[in-house]
Amino acid sequence: MFKTRFRAVIYITFLLPIILLILSFTDEYVQQREQMVENQLIPRGITDKNTLRAMRETPRHLFIPSAAQRRFAYQDRPLPIGYGQTISQPYIVAYMTQIIEPKSDYRVLEIGTGSGYQAAVLAEIVDEVYTIEIVEELGKHSIKVFDKLEYENVDVKIDDGYYGWEEYAPFDAIVVTAAAEHIPPPLIEQLKDGGKMIIPVGSPFHTQQLMLVEKDGDDIITKNLMPVRFVPFRRAE
Ligand code: SAH
Repeated sequence: MFKTRFRAVIYITFLLPIILLILSFTDEYVQQREQMVENQLIPRGITDKNTLRAMRETPRHLFIPSAAQRRFAYQDRPLPIGYGQTISQPYIVAYMTQIIEPKSDYRVLEIGTGSGYQAAVLAEIVDEVYTIEIVEELGKHSIKVFDKLEYENVDVKIDDGYYGWEEYAPFDAIVVTAAAEHIPPPLIEQLKDGGKMIIPVGSPFHTQQLMLVEKDGDDIITKNLMPVRFVPFRRAE
């Protein structure tokens, strides 16, 4: 009796803290994500609590298809994901997330699923994410990753995102992650009144403008945010 209690005391006071400490260090990526947040996001003005939480929690490395590239997952740069496409730099993902002011009850549309990372970051915050990818292989790969990581609030469609996703419209916010020459009118139509869209606009292979588009009744208010470089918005043949 005494022995059992003694053992329990030893376990709780000494062994348990050690086990917990070891466990907290086992996921090296947790630390890398913390550094990413501290060094790349907060100093550049990412302050939204939900966005920072989602950036801390989303395992970016698991969205990078090439095992050889995975160790660069938390570095301050975009990375190739195959088919000539890239996963955006963490800061850009955080910036695009913060600017739409995501709320838990939001339904968000993303155009350009790519690796699935931006959609996953959004899915950590909002109720429903709908995302469209034009490259079949990328779309299929992202579906596999979402299934494996048990994201239940992300729906992927393989299609030309120019036309949006009528069935689930209107959306509280729309995030476009490929550079379009103009803002696709169907996306403006599918934005809720008072909703926000973020989209890089400009010619492919040049610097584009990241634009914030806000819908206020019949008025569309646009604002240039910063110069960026995104892969081109393609059109289905
Ligand atoms: N959000 C992605 C970034 C991917 S890069 C991520 O987090 O990884 C942009 C993606 O947009 C590419 O995968 C590209 O194939 C896709 N894309 C380009 N034009 C598109 C279109 N018209 N409809 C849907 N996806 C498109």
